[in-house]
Amino acid sequence: MKKLAQYKFYTLTVVGGGLTGQLMVSLILKSNLIDADKLCWINLNAKKSKDSRVSFLNINNFFRLKYNFKYQFDINDYLNIKKIQIHNKNEKAPLSLEEDSHGVIVKNNTLKKNFKISKKNLNIFTSRVIKTKHDQYNRYLSLEDGTNIKTSLVICADGNSSTLRDLTKIKYASHNLNHTIISGYLYSKNFDNAVAKQVFLDDSYIGLLPISKNNNLVNFVWSLDSKVLKNKKSNFNFHDEIVKKLNSFFIKYNIYFEHRNTNKTDFDKLQIYSSNVKFVNKPFSERIVLIGDAAHTIHPLAGQGFNLSIEDCFDLLKCINKATYYGKDLGDNFILEEYSKLRRKRKNFITLITTLIFYLFKKRSKNLNKVINLFSENLNKKASKKFLTILARGY
Ligand SMILES: Cc1cc2nc3c(=O)[nH]c(=O)nc-3n(C[C@H](O)[C@H](O)[C@H](O)COP(=O)(O)OP(=O)(O)OC[C@H]3O[C@@H](n4cnc5c(N)ncnc54)[C@H](O)[C@@H]3O)c2cc1C
Repeated sequence: MKKLAQYKFYTLTVVGGGLTGQLMVSLILKSNLIDADKLCWINLNAKKSKDSRVSFLNINNFFRLKYNFKYQFDINDYLNIKKIQIHNKNEKAPLSLEEDSHGVIVKNNTLKKNFKISKKNLNIFTSRVIKTKHDQYNRYLSLEDGTNIKTSLVICADGNSSTLRDLTKIKYASHNLNHTIISGYLYSKNFDNAVAKQVFLDDSYIGLLPISKNNNLVNFVWSLDSKVLKNKKSNFNFHDEIVKKLNSFFIKYNIYFEHRNTNKTDFDKLQIYSSNVKFVNKPFSERIVLIGDAAHTIHPLAGQGFNLSIEDCFDLLKCINKATYYGKDLGDNFILEEYSKLRRKRKNFITLITTLIFYLFKKRSKNLNKVINLFSENLNKKASKKFLTILARGY
């Protein structure tokens, strides 16, 4: 006789142990929305979790984390960015956006440490979700290790290749940008640590973020046309190639880069990703809601992916809070619809703008490049650079 599956019940279940999943669990617990024993976290990264990247957090999100939610950021945990410079091929000068603060740069591991979660009474499972179904009252999750979970609402932060998005048939558009993203560190003695730079070259876009006041390390996020890699194949040395590109571009500004072995795996190892855009119009289905990269995947050129995810967490928390106050079922479609509406404008804006910037620089001809440089020179003269500043700062 077939054995009936035994389900453990939790009011809320968060899937995903990346930055978004961890922040969501931490915010739910911090806000005392539900008791820890009614919350379940499916976190495959619970044991091993090392992310050597850094993130640019826009100033609005950083302030809300620090002052509204009282996350403790030590002064040495972050670098304040006062200037963002956008560089282009054949420029006379970079486009410079100056503010008291555009935002901060924080190591991803520091963020994880700060989004601290008290494990007391919290139910954590470390096995992958492989199946799901729902009825009128619950969503059911089956994990690879045989655990079965029943829950009122699944908050799903399982990333760019979200399994649950596919299992629940949430529709999305996916587009391969045919760039490879390489993240790593270089040494530069004369790089100003209050400045973040984005450089647009012919086959590459390079984001440069200083990481600390105490060393001269600069994090690079290098988006490279995948055709270049296909042609060079084996003996392609990423560090040598990027140093060559950057030094020939920045010689006129007396900024030099070199690759030094620091003997710390965090800084010596490269992280390599494919690059695609995923657009989810309606990030929910019956008793499941998407947040983070599962709900929107964008090109990292403006450093906005996790910023969007932080805002997802804030807005979803608002909706859950309201539902709890009125004693509503947390999986009610009405609540998920409200979350989707709150996120729509900003998600669409950032996805559209980052993809447009990507293609503007990818498709450029000699004449288009001249126009881009003329446009940014004039933008430099005028005080109004509002549009780009809004993109960097958040709302
Ligand atoms: C090089 C680079 C630099 C970036 N820089 C910035 C920046 O400066 N600022 C910024 O705002 N954003 C930046 N981003 C974007 C940002 O890093 C991402 O948006 C963010 O990390 C997404 O986190 P996430 O938790 O949503 O997804 P992920 O980190 O992908 O986490 C997904 C989680 O789900 C788990 N999972 C997957 N499938 C299952 C399953 N079936 N069952 C259970 N669990 C599952 C995984 O194990 C993982 O823990 C950058 C991105 C890149 C690539």
